[in-house]
Amino acid sequence: TEHQRIALITGANKGIGKEIARQLAQRGFAVFIGARDITKGREASDELCQQGYESTFIQLDVNDPVSIRTACGTFSQKAEHLDVLINNAGILEDHGEDILKLNTEMLERTLKSNVIGPILVAQNFLSFLQKSPQGGRIINISSGAGALKNMNTYAPAYSISKTALNAVTKQFAGALNGQNIAVNCVDPGWVRTDMGGPQASRPVEKGAETIVWLATEASQTETGKFWHDKKEVDW
Ligand code: NDP
Repeated sequence: TEHQRIALITGANKGIGKEIARQLAQRGFAVFIGARDITKGREASDELCQQGYESTFIQLDVNDPVSIRTACGTFSQKAEHLDVLINNAGILEDHGEDILKLNTEMLERTLKSNVIGPILVAQNFLSFLQKSPQGGRIINISSGAGALKNMNTYAPAYSISKTALNAVTKQFAGALNGQNIAVNCVDPGWVRTDMGGPQASRPVEKGAETIVWLATEASQTETGKFWHDKKEVDW
């Protein structure tokens, strides 16, 4: 019999993360809903359970190394392996900021959530990914704003964080070369969420599409790449 596939999604209480969890659960995954807020996280997970899916809430604040380690311990009591880790949690605090006057405390917060967080989560859950029967997958949710070729100067802290996340993706892919763990990053496009706003062009279903494809159908040999609409793109 086929083993139960397991996915952990950070920041899965709303937005793109919640939709990724729903789509993966729909495809038969047991999903772990990572969220820093217990009430919001439980609610999102319960919603999936009520729809007949297998979902478990796991408290996980990507800014807090202790929370990440505790989440790892909780996870180890409920599962023996992890097939897919989605580093989705992220923040966007700058709107029309000027790099020449950039609030570096805001930059620090942004790098902590969007870059250090994904590194810590991947480091801590690596041993579970290494036990995935068909090979683990790490997917980092990046942004077109991080692409150097058309670097977004409207939100410098956020853009810098996503460029760094792409570099982190390359570093992990290189370090895990030969270990059957694929590491990729994705630009989901402009998506209607609290972050993307109501004017954004894409519904969450479309925003999650390439991420879910990378988690499931994409070849395990694809690694170290930046994806948009199921195609590799330069950055
Ligand atoms: P939302 O703001 O709707 O959701 C962000 C999620 O991340 C929330 O669940 C939030 O939790 C969580 N989060 C933030 N900080 C932390 C933390 N320290 N620990 C745990 N969870 C945290 O944004 P989106 O769904 O739009 O964004 C998801 C990802 O997609 C982000 O990485 C974003 O940068 C990226 N992206 C989004 C685009 C868009 O157009 N929407 C475009 C390109 C990329 P809480 O509810 O507690 O705040």
